[in-house]
Amino acid sequence: MKAAIIGAGPAGLTCALKLIESGFNVDVYESSAAAGGMTKSFDLWGQRVDVGPHRFFSMDEKINSFWREQVGEDYVMVDRLTRIYYNKKFFLYPVKAMNALKNLGFIEAMSCVLSYIKACFAKKGSEKTFEEWVSHKFGYKLYSVFFKTYSERLWGISCKNLDADFARQRIKGLDLFEVIKSAIFPQKSVKHKTLVEQFAYPKMGAGVPYDNIVKKIASKGGGNKI
Ligand SMILES: Cc1cc2nc3c(=O)[nH]c(=O)nc-3n(C[C@H](O)[C@H](O)[C@H](O)COP(=O)(O)OP(=O)(O)OC[C@H]3O[C@@H](n4cnc5c(N)ncnc54)[C@H](O)[C@@H]3O)c2cc1C
Repeated sequence: MKAAIIGAGPAGLTCALKLIESGFNVDVYESSAAAGGMTKSFDLWGQRVDVGPHRFFSMDEKINSFWREQVGEDYVMVDRLTRIYYNKKFFLYPVKAMNALKNLGFIEAMSCVLSYIKACFAKKGSEKTFEEWVSHKFGYKLYSVFFKTYSERLWGISCKNLDADFARQRIKGLDLFEVIKSAIFPQKSVKHKTLVEQFAYPKMGAGVPYDNIVKKIASKGGGNKI
């Protein structure tokens, strides 16, 4: 059986490798000069750089172990620190309530809290889009300040067209009790975890697993039209 895969990003390459392992004869077609898609690493001014700050993590252990298989031992564990520069201040990303409220100032913060409380009473469960999911979880105000612009710039499409599953995987909910507790006991309350505080990072860049998959595909007889 023959298969043609269009695009040598993480999805196309993973699919190609899995198909080859299932006995398919696979050709991968890539329009750019290198594999890895948005996760590629490349050389620039004598440095190895990534397209964006990539942290690989999945809720599905099968996917995590597939990733580790492709990287081998050549990775380090890195503490996560991502921040959004907004209104001349650095906001932690994923958003942490106390940090966000402190940086926003009293009036904006109150508006976020009120909008969050309103969201708590909204009917939930039918969210289909990223916008609906995040604004139901955090309130429209927090959504519009942090998630909307960032996500639309990152993905290049409106949050109204992004699937809610996308948000479910990436963003943890917000517990108002947790927020109040951390305001009163800032040291003790470290419970509001982000999805992942530490992540594995390939020493030679986020694109390493995909470069390795390209080699595997070639060694197993697949065709790379990159
Ligand atoms: C700045 C930034 C930061 C990110 N951070 C993270 C992160 O921390 N963690 C995380 O999990 N994800 C992150 N992502 C998302 C991650 O990069 C994507 O989810 C992933 O790359 C999607 O893989 P894909 O194979 O579906 O698509 P892509 O990576 O987009 O790959 C698609 C490939 O198909 C090729 N292609 C398209 N059209 C054609 C055609 N007609 N013919 C031939 N080839 C074609 C493209 O050139 C590309 O190589 C980030 C993305 C960006 C931009």
